[in-house]
Parts: sequence; C-alpha cells; structure tokens
Amino acid sequence: MSNFPFDPQSELSEDVLSRFYIDGQWVQGGSSASFSLVSPSTEVAFATARLADTGDVDRAVNAARKAFDTGPWPRMSGTERAACLRRMSEALGLRIPLLSRIWTAEVGAPVGFADMFAPTATAMLDYYAGLASTFAFEEVRSTRNGQARIIRQPVGVAALIAPWNAQLPILSYKLGAALAAGCTVVVKTPPETPFDALVVAECAHEAGLPPGVLNVIAADAAHGAYLVAKREVDKVSFTGSTATGKLIAKTCADRLARVTLELGGKSAAIVLDDAELDPTLAALAQVTMPFSGQICFAQTRILVPRSRERAFIEAYSAVIGGLEVGDPWSINTQIGPLANRRQLDRVMGYIEAGYTEGARVVTGGDRSRRFETGFFVEPTVFAGVTPHMTIAREEIFGPVVSIIAYDDIDQAIEIANDTDFGLSGTVFTSDVERGSAIARRIRTGNVSVNGLEIAPNAPFGGFKQSGIGREGGPEGLGAFLEHQAIYLPVPVTRATTE
Ligand code: NAD
Repeated sequence: MSNFPFDPQSELSEDVLSRFYIDGQWVQGGSSASFSLVSPSTEVAFATARLADTGDVDRAVNAARKAFDTGPWPRMSGTERAACLRRMSEALGLRIPLLSRIWTAEVGAPVGFADMFAPTATAMLDYYAGLASTFAFEEVRSTRNGQARIIRQPVGVAALIAPWNAQLPILSYKLGAALAAGCTVVVKTPPETPFDALVVAECAHEAGLPPGVLNVIAADAAHGAYLVAKREVDKVSFTGSTATGKLIAKTCADRLARVTLELGGKSAAIVLDDAELDPTLAALAQVTMPFSGQICFAQTRILVPRSRERAFIEAYSAVIGGLEVGDPWSINTQIGPLANRRQLDRVMGYIEAGYTEGARVVTGGDRSRRFETGFFVEPTVFAGVTPHMTIAREEIFGPVVSIIAYDDIDQAIEIANDTDFGLSGTVFTSDVERGSAIARRIRTGNVSVNGLEIAPNAPFGGFKQSGIGREGGPEGLGAFLEHQAIYLPVPVTRATTE
C-alpha cells in the first residue's frame, strides 16, 4: 500500500515538529534521543519525534510547580478559567481536521473513525468549561461553633499520561477536568503519538493560558516512570495498560500521590433471547472491533443464548467478514492496519493461542494477504470459545472477537463478570428495562443497552483491574480536587451563603 497523503513538514508547524512546550515557550529538548514514526499502512518512516530526557522532565515539572504555587491559574474563579477553556476549544475546533489527519497518520486510525471521534476534544473542553462556570468550588455549612467553609481546591501539579491509541480524546478528558479544577499539568505523550498534544499546546498558547499551566513533552516509558516518581507531582492521571497502571500505583503509593487509572478491558456484549437480530448485528459491527479493536471499551466477548448460537455465529461472521478492510485514508475503510509491528505480533500471538486451545475460526484468523505492506490482520471471529481460554480472558487489543454460548441469563452474567477487568459492557434486548436490570448486575463501570454510548457528562472508568477513579462528568472534575474544611466561629448568615 503506497497511499500516504500526509506531509508533516507542510501540515505541522516547526514548533510541533521539533520542540516541546514548557513554561509558555517552545523549547528544544536537551536530548538527541528520537523516535521514528512509521506509517502502519506503508511501513515507511514519515517523521521523527524528539524525545525528552530527564532534564526536560525536570523543566516541565518545575514550570508546572511554579505556575501552581505562585501563578494566577489556581487562584482564578471557575468562571475565569471557563473563559480560557472556551477560547482553547475554539482554537482547537479550527484544528480538528488536522488532528484527525494526525491520528490517521500516526497510528492508522481509519479517517471515518478519526473524523467521528476527534471532535470529542472540543466537546470535553466545552463540557468542563460549562461545569467550571457553575460548579460550587466553595460551600458553607453550619456547625456547632459557627460554620465550616468547604473549599474544593485543585489537587496541585498533575502528570497526564495517555496511550498511543486515542491520544487526543483521552487527553481532552484529562485536560478539561484538570484545567477546570485549577491544576497545572505536565502532559507526557508516548513516542508513537507526539504531535496531537503539541497542537493542543498551540491552542492553549493562542487562548492565553498562563505560562507553566500546560507543559507538553514526548517521552518513552522510562521517562514516564521518572515523571511519575517526582515528588513535585501531586497527582497522576494515567490511561494505558493494566500492567503499567499497577507500576504507577506502586510508585504513587510511596508518597501517597493521588492517582487515577484508566486501564484495560475485556468487555462483554450480552445478546438476550429477545434481541432482534438485524439491529443487534448493526450495532455489534460498530462496537466489537472499532479501530481494529485497539480501543479499551471494545466489546470483545459476545455472549449468545445457546439456542441462538448457530444462527448468530453465521450472521455475525458474515457481517464481520464483509467489513471493508484497507487503506486508513479511504473514507470507506472500516478496518485499517494495526498501529505498529509490535501490535501485529501481539495480536497474531493471541490468534495462535485461540487455535492451539481449540477455538474455531469462523472468519479471518490470519494476517491480511490483500496488501503488500501494512500491519493488517483480517477481522477475526472465534466460536466454540470457553470462558477459560486465553482469548476469552486477556485483552488482545486487535480485531479478534470471541463468541461464547450461555444456557440462562444467570450464567451469562456469571461469564460476563468472570474476568479481572470491568470497563464496559452492552446488553441487546427488545425490552430496555429488562436490559437495564441486567446491566446493574454486570460489574463494570459502563454498560449500554442496544448500542454503546459515552457522554461527556457521565463518569467513565473501570471496576476491578480496569482502573481506579473516573473521568468525565463532575466525577472527573472531582478527581483533580482536594476538599478543605475551614472552621470559623461565626454563624452562617445569608451573606456567607450567597
Ligand atoms: P502502556 O501502558 O504501555 O503505555 C501507556 C502510556 O504510559 C504511554 O504514554 C507510555 O509511554 C507510558 N508508560 C509506560 N510505562 C510507564 C511507566 N512505568 N511509568 C509511566 N509511564 C509509562 O499502554 P499502551 O500499550 O500504550 O496502550 C494500550 C492500553 O491502554 C490497553 O491496555 C488499553 O486497554 C488501555 N487503554 C485504556 C483506556 C481507558 O480509558 N480505560 C483507554 C485507552 C486505552
């Protein structure tokens, strides 16, 4: 595959291409370390990312610390911060088409997918701007001796770390909430997706965000670990694998730094006996392997009543086998390449495990042979999967779905919950209230009935090893706040409550 219509030199500014954003300035990093960005479809390198060294991490953290301790941002009112967030969102809105193209270039997200989800960034900034302007950052309560003023203070300097798969939307959840709360932040992007957050920094600069409030560096895992361990960092908001999340939690535990973890998933779609087949299949085609399954909330286990198993396997595998696999730059493409060779090897390893452990491939099951280059895997459906197989238990992060049969609804719920993860889930039924009752029994942070929705004003996050804490909604703002109670020996009057 040779199509690669993205020219970093002409589409990105020199700052975004080769600098970091620290203390309100575009600066050269101190290290000569770099990372070669390879197109997932052509396998040709198209840009080089500069990577931060420990000196760059120190500078970014010091800038954020100074801006928090002595700068205006944490001391502004919610309304003032909201005005700045709105200006940032406007600047970002103008760059959404560019950010969508960056997403496709960096990790091969099909353009239709990237165009649909890149606007999440402005939606999240707008949502948190709205919340910041109405949120009760202070409240007064009567006490025995007078009153307590409850102050919801920003938690301090926050390190925001996101994975390569959906850098922009994930960052916008974290950034919207952190900035609305009054925190100052250091964003560490992964080497694979260095540009998105730097474009966001351009928007913040244009919007007049005070120096040091937002600092952006690209860095590898070792420098991520160095950032997390710094005592000047009060809070870590991390999205990524469960394995890395546990390492970060241990580091944070040493100094009891606040931590929010958004981790992996192995979510179940439960198809009930009364679900209508066609709308269920149409929805499952969207949610079982979005972005080639490289999305944390992908519904990778489909649970079907044994009485409907055979018909369902036939119909679902026909839908998945009919998905348009190909060039991520084509608007018709539904399944593009995996993001990199490491992902390809990982996914092929799981497919191999599926065969070895006795599952049956009903469509796909191999690398795609349709293209000369690119990290393509055919969308793959396994049937005859039992809940103990590796492919039913571990997060594959690729276009691989397992169909598991159940005998009654109690068993379906038991299978859905028989996992270390608890991120997302779906229930398909012609009776929405029945779906809601079943949803309550699923031990995950999010469950949707007859589709999958994620809304800015609702909390997103995981039970069990899918994470700790929530992003989105007022809950996401709360993750960047500390509560302080100030007791005063004076009674509450109308004036103090107004
Ligand atoms: P990863 O854990 O390897 O890396 C994520 C980020 O952490 C990267 O920026 C990486 O450079 C950094 N990092 C790695 N080791 C670190 C360390 N010791 N200390 C600090 N930072 C470190 O994950 P990945 O492979 O890039 O991403 C895929 C994973 O992310 C999947 O498990 C997926 O489910 C998960 N994910 C979760 C959500 C969610 O909201 N729950 C969303 C998207 C992706």
